[in-house]
Amino acid sequence: MSSNLPNRASSSAGAAAAAAAAAPPLESTSQQHAQSPAERPQGQLRFPDSYYDDQGRLVLKNLTLPEMERWCESIGEDGPKRAIQLWRWMYYDRQWIRSLEDAAAGKVQNGFSAAFLDKMRGLATADGGLLLQSIHTAADGTRKMVFKLAHGPAAGGQVETVLIPVVREQGSKPRITLCVSSQVGCAMNCQFCFTGRMGLQGNLTPGQIVEQVVAARRLLWEEDVAAGVERHITPITNLVYMGMGEPLHNLPAVLPSIETLCQPLGMHFSANKITVSTVGLVPEMRQFSEQSKAVMAVSLHATTDEVRDWIVPVNRKWGLQELVGTMEELFPRDQAAPRHGHHVLIEYTMLQGVNDTDDDARRLLELTKDIRCKINLIVFNPHEGTQFKPSTPERVQAFRSLLIQGGHVATVRDSRGDDKMAACGQLGSPESSTRRPPLLSPPERLQGALATSS
Ligand code: SF4
Repeated sequence: MSSNLPNRASSSAGAAAAAAAAAPPLESTSQQHAQSPAERPQGQLRFPDSYYDDQGRLVLKNLTLPEMERWCESIGEDGPKRAIQLWRWMYYDRQWIRSLEDAAAGKVQNGFSAAFLDKMRGLATADGGLLLQSIHTAADGTRKMVFKLAHGPAAGGQVETVLIPVVREQGSKPRITLCVSSQVGCAMNCQFCFTGRMGLQGNLTPGQIVEQVVAARRLLWEEDVAAGVERHITPITNLVYMGMGEPLHNLPAVLPSIETLCQPLGMHFSANKITVSTVGLVPEMRQFSEQSKAVMAVSLHATTDEVRDWIVPVNRKWGLQELVGTMEELFPRDQAAPRHGHHVLIEYTMLQGVNDTDDDARRLLELTKDIRCKINLIVFNPHEGTQFKPSTPERVQAFRSLLIQGGHVATVRDSRGDDKMAACGQLGSPESSTRRPPLLSPPERLQGALATSS
């Protein structure tokens, strides 16, 4: 991914709103937070307000490594050397400091000098600003970490991160997929989604996305230490941006968070092990595919505009024709096409009587015939107050068979962690919201189907 900072700004109106909360660095010092000029080194590189905590300290986890180098230089340090030192203490395996003082010389080898810590006091913090509130463990081993946000555009809100154990053959090394959130609540109002009932309460900063991964790795490591288990590699191998929020609606924070997570000197995830989901924000899909090597997942969920306009209302802005055309362009199946190479993951939540007929399966084949894709059928996870029911296992299998017969790779994602509201589409707490988005009327012909299935 490019580290060319000025290019981060989105060209679309949707991302522009998100950019107001998490934007590229600013060189000017005139419009920023209340830190006293006397406390600041002259010429310090400035960032948006959302990058600072309520004490006016720069939250270092909001910065990519090139930004960190530039900032260190701007406060009179040896930029590359100091940035790498900070980086390794924050992100390298089994370091994960909570504050800069945790890495003081004398306490640890190669730690920060007393003079440097003095200089940084009041200036910057290594704390990502997520306060762990609770951990909920489901019967299948899936765990949900609930955090309160200490600062940033959604300060005071709660955000959830899910650790999903990957079930593999006996004796193999344990693996975990981590599902991270990118917003508190969500503006997209998908009708079957619990998080959507909250409305959007605020964007996460890059550091708050990254900190979810740091906190999960730290938790696993501390548990290993307590249990006397020695493990050399972290069991979190895959990341999915499929928690609370629409990631491409907060692209100015999501893109740098991926850059940080993939940095070889720190968290070192491979981009093809990171999947970012979207309901189909077309301009941001183009921007994302230009600027990130991470995998894109498009939540399609319907095969007609009639149904999609209802259950995924963003379809009223970017309808199926435009969405499918964009995927054909970005992920062409045709091997001779210039952009051929990457695939897109198409997600399809199976809703009884709404989108699960054989005709839907045939239309899905037709819609995706020119797209290099894999299709993931998602078993719907019911929640309190929902009008929808999951398709029966037989219907899911019949639907999948049709897709496979049509030449697609089609998998089924089972429900994980649903007894603790940790499953897909179940995160969040709509009761905390004072501005719940409206439930939309179904198309007339589906009213009966919905009534009999609810
Ligand atoms: S499914 Fe995703 S995009 Fe839709 S409301 Fe839920 S969190 Fe938002």
